[in-house]
Amino acid sequence: MSDATQGFSLELSSDLREMRDWVHQFAASVIRPAAAEWDEREQVPWPVLEEAAKIGLYSLDFYAQQYFEGSGLGIPVVFEELFWADAGIGLSLTGSSLAAVSVVSNGTPEQIGEWLPQMFGKPGDVKLGAFCASEPDAGSDVGAIRTRAVYDQKSDEWVINGVKTWATNGGIANVHVVVASVDPALGSRGQASFIVPPGTPGLRMGQKFRKHGIRASHTAEVILDDVRVPGQCLVGGKDKLDERLARIGAGKRGGEQAAMKTFEASRPSVAAMAVGVARAAVEFATEYARTRVQFGRPIGQNQGVAFQLADMRASVDAARLLTWRAAWMARQGLPMLAAEGSMSKLVAGETAVRVTEQAIQILGGNGYTREYPVERWHRDAKIFTIFEGTSEIQRMIIGRAVTGLDVR
Ligand SMILES: Cc1cc2nc3c(=O)[nH]c(=O)nc-3n(C[C@H](O)[C@H](O)[C@H](O)COP(=O)(O)OP(=O)(O)OC[C@H]3O[C@@H](n4cnc5c(N)ncnc54)[C@H](O)[C@@H]3O)c2cc1C
Repeated sequence: MSDATQGFSLELSSDLREMRDWVHQFAASVIRPAAAEWDEREQVPWPVLEEAAKIGLYSLDFYAQQYFEGSGLGIPVVFEELFWADAGIGLSLTGSSLAAVSVVSNGTPEQIGEWLPQMFGKPGDVKLGAFCASEPDAGSDVGAIRTRAVYDQKSDEWVINGVKTWATNGGIANVHVVVASVDPALGSRGQASFIVPPGTPGLRMGQKFRKHGIRASHTAEVILDDVRVPGQCLVGGKDKLDERLARIGAGKRGGEQAAMKTFEASRPSVAAMAVGVARAAVEFATEYARTRVQFGRPIGQNQGVAFQLADMRASVDAARLLTWRAAWMARQGLPMLAAEGSMSKLVAGETAVRVTEQAIQILGGNGYTREYPVERWHRDAKIFTIFEGTSEIQRMIIGRAVTGLDVR
């Protein structure tokens, strides 16, 4: 065997396979049977979170272990299994990790140690975290964020005012991480993230959204009205912010490259969620096509159906390979020069929408009813072309990366 072949393997380690099977067992026996009920209730499935906490699946330790797993595939493997079972409950189980990652990537060790455990809580008293960047007038255009954070030197506090929208776990989280502008003239370069501790006066939930899909995940506005947080709640600390602003003042780069790197590295996690939903639909449609008989033979014997299943399966496997490549590159610290993270999110999100629609078609009338899960999976899948950067924004990022041009 040559060196090149020895150095390449797509086989998961035995630890990862064991962990995947353990998560799958919980996903199949606890999450999937609860999925339809929580979709109808449109509420956070607290009892499922408690069950997951009891076995250590909803815990900071478990996520941290997978986040730092050497191959980079820990989080993609977990997320695929959870979202295979149900995307709404899956997002309730993983939404806190978005807030956690935002503190891990820029926070001080003290901030990580103090606030991350409070985003997860413990068995019998589970908690959530929320990451609040989007605003009514700042979705794709994050540079337009109007929420303002002003430093009050006398009290060493930051005073935050603004309205956030679309926040997963917004208003019901124990810890909110809020992106605000500290220097509006600088656009996205003048922004910073702030930790809002539990029970801080002035933070409240606005409208809770009733959604097309992922309805077991809570999405709401967050209103910040003269919210005062201690100086130490500025993620990364004031010295780092002052240094960054000084660099920008001197006409140098202000760390936006680092922010882009963080986004590229986190996108494969979202791609893995989409792969999970897509895989569920392909498995279900395949089994249905093997057993549903029309014209005296299983519908899957018709090329018109089998070819669809072939395309569906191939595209899910392709999406997973892009996801694993990007996650692996991120873990190895390799530069994502062609925006490989965005590629994985784009392809996996669009694959999930397409294959869940094809699954409905293969189930015929049954596919269109709530007696079968594929219509829910189709509703759920659509979020993956919208949040964490829409498909158009992913194409823009990839377009810029591959052409080197300022594509708009
Ligand atoms: C269920 C749900 C959960 C969410 N969770 C969170 C969360 O936890 N935290 C958070 O901060 N945000 C969250 N979001 C917000 C999400 O990230 C935004 O909805 C997303 O970034 C798109 O922003 P927008 O909705 O304002 O759409 P817009 O930015 O208004 O876009 C509308 C359309 O215009 C297109 N468009 C915009 N600009 C361009 C361009 N330059 N070129 C081509 N097309 C363009 C978009 O692709 C889209 O199709 C969530 C959203 C949803 C629906």
